[in-house]
Amino acid sequence: MLDLTPKAIVERGALRVNPCKTCQPVGALYAALGVHKCMPHSHGSQGCVSYHRTFLTRHFKEPAIAASSSFTEGASVFGGGPNLRAAVKNIFDIYDPDVIAVHTTCLSETIGDDLNAYILEMTIPDGKIVLHANTPSYAGSHITGYANMLSGFIRYLADPRAPKNGRTALFPGFVNPGDIREIKRVLGLLGLPLIVFPDQSDVMDAPMTNAYAMYPEGGTTLDEIRALGGCERVLALGRFACESPADALDKKCRIPFLNLPLPIGVAATDALVMAAARGAGVPRELEDERGRLLDLMLDANPYFYRKTLAIFGDPDTVLGLTAFALELGMKPGYVITGTPGEAFTRQANALLGQYGVADATVKASADLFELHQWIKNKPVDLLLGTSYGKQIARAEDIPLVRAGFPVLDRYGHSCMPIVGYRGAMRLAEMIAGALMDRYDRDCADEDMDMVM
Ligand code: SF4
Repeated sequence: MLDLTPKAIVERGALRVNPCKTCQPVGALYAALGVHKCMPHSHGSQGCVSYHRTFLTRHFKEPAIAASSSFTEGASVFGGGPNLRAAVKNIFDIYDPDVIAVHTTCLSETIGDDLNAYILEMTIPDGKIVLHANTPSYAGSHITGYANMLSGFIRYLADPRAPKNGRTALFPGFVNPGDIREIKRVLGLLGLPLIVFPDQSDVMDAPMTNAYAMYPEGGTTLDEIRALGGCERVLALGRFACESPADALDKKCRIPFLNLPLPIGVAATDALVMAAARGAGVPRELEDERGRLLDLMLDANPYFYRKTLAIFGDPDTVLGLTAFALELGMKPGYVITGTPGEAFTRQANALLGQYGVADATVKASADLFELHQWIKNKPVDLLLGTSYGKQIARAEDIPLVRAGFPVLDRYGHSCMPIVGYRGAMRLAEMIAGALMDRYDRDCADEDMDMVM
């Protein structure tokens, strides 16, 4: 399919081909789905929200609900205020959510719709909330949209006068429900009372019960979001997804935050555990998990050592995967994200520098077309990233390990963690399995061993 990708690289300033990101509303919608009894609402045309919902549904294999202002020509010219007013009335009448979280789209941003004014002027039923976030898709990526929607919830709801509750607010980052569940388990072992915001576990991986629930049991409640203003501190995981919402809460409610990397790999998980433990002891169960991970990393080291790889996807995830690949003894050759931001290149280069890797190509705002071209000129042993790497994998005959967002062509992945010590064991097993399968496929008959 990508057999005709040219090897010769031409500099492109204004064109992205096979971008390594999607648009802001996808992230905003995912953030809103992590709030209990929330109806996400896309202020734009039906085509936009169809795409956003389909994209999330394909990754999570769960219905991603959202409504739309259903712009047609009239709204596109005269503004979408009447559409939004009608939509809000219909949504509360028919679907009865506690909150409608409105995000904008390219179209409503371009015509300059003022969501603040629309919401101030509309009639909202008692006890219900309508809030919004601006998510213009010609800036940033779905990660920016996720962060903007979290900031929107904080702006509207976090209460600076909330009573002190002794809890830690956890902003888990743009990760799968399985990752959130694992982070909660780890911090639960440390006895940390938490408010997790947002929390898509038990929403985007709700169990099958034979009865459809428009609003599954999971999700951060509105009272919990109000109570963020009374938390002791925030652990914000991932710079790109969570630093700006944590900063918004700090500015509004004076809640200090610690911005940590996503806990992918040993050092990043250690950092989260130590931050949560705050000098207290670490439970034996966690120490044992860590020890088992190190044992696996040592046992399989001959298969990891100096293997080259390309890592691509969302910035916080890619930085975590890069750190873990380096811990495994692997050698990243290409580290890219589609999300813009030079902080990504700085952090990736700093990680690579710690391990003496000086010849890797690191790029933000990158696309998979250029990654393919680089690989054609200098191949790698493994691809580690989203499903969008599968055409490169096929064209160049390189194994692909799927991790991050989106993974569209596999099942069960969003329930399984890649964070924490257990998640790192799963990642290490997947990477070792892919490399060893490739060895078995290519080796001479006499080297085909049962025990490796
Ligand atoms: S028009 Fe903009 S908001 Fe709508 S799907 Fe396309 S990029 Fe996303």
